[in-house]
Amino acid sequence: MRNIDLHCHSNISDGTLTPAAVAARAHANGVDVWALTDHDELDGIPEAREAAGDFGMRYVPGVEISVTWAGQTIHIVGLRIDETNADLMQGLAATRGGRAARAEEMAQQLAAVGIPGAYEGALRFVGNPDLISRTHFARFLVESGVCADVPDVFKNYLVDGKPGFVPHRWATLQNAVQWIRNAGGVAIIAHPGRYHFTDLAFDAFVQEFKQVGGVGMEVVTGSHTPEQYDYYAGVARTHGLLASRGSDFHGPGESRIDLGALPPLPPGLTPVWHDWAL
Ligand code: AMP
Ligand code: MN
Ligand code: MN
Ligand code: MN
Repeated sequence: MRNIDLHCHSNISDGTLTPAAVAARAHANGVDVWALTDHDELDGIPEAREAAGDFGMRYVPGVEISVTWAGQTIHIVGLRIDETNADLMQGLAATRGGRAARAEEMAQQLAAVGIPGAYEGALRFVGNPDLISRTHFARFLVESGVCADVPDVFKNYLVDGKPGFVPHRWATLQNAVQWIRNAGGVAIIAHPGRYHFTDLAFDAFVQEFKQVGGVGMEVVTGSHTPEQYDYYAGVARTHGLLASRGSDFHGPGESRIDLGALPPLPPGLTPVWHDWAL
């Protein structure tokens, strides 16, 4: 059986490894169909594609777009996109736009609670200055001893109601799905178990996602528990969504689930790759 991993990050966004190093690790772990899905950024794709070719892996061009829907941040993965598509490139450039100003505000809040130098500190972990993210602040807060580890950071800082949280308006759901579709790709809801929705709100979200042209959902992801694999398998069947699998790997020692290490999709699902010539 093929080992298909369609969600992970390089240092072009908030991962710690270069695209080529992520490819090497995916291959070493037995992955044979692989997508790099950096946040709001396509610049890692040429290096990832070349490295995947060197290792004999099937390469799937991907991206993970930050969306604001009903006040929440939602991530939409685009797969099999054309990374030279102007519409997608412009949309992502606009989505990335506010990150520097947001990061400065985050640092001001942290300084106000006695943690100085967070902007410069976070920047030291950044591979791509356009893409400074909460993950880079989290690494700084661990390195400087404020927090024990990254999960500890996201409990006590950088989240709603805690120091260092700056609300941000990302892309709209409709625009994100449209950019992906215009670039020839398929749109997938990333890690649905991470959002804070009532059942009613989640159903409304999926309805709108499908209405604007979204087709799939991650069922087996590094962000889900085994119970959630089964739960979201049911959700995908109920809503007629294709199912995807991806580790959401960010770096060795940081991610709970390594590249290619997830179990296969539960039975009775149509995989997002069902009509790909693999
Ligand atoms: P940003 O796009 O700057 O809001 O940062 C979002 C990133 O923070 C995500 O892509 C994750 O990599 C990371 N993140 C968010 N919540 C958590 C969490 N609870 N534990 C670990 N990483 C998280
Ligand atoms: Mn991330
Ligand atoms: Mn995500
Ligand atoms: Mn991700």
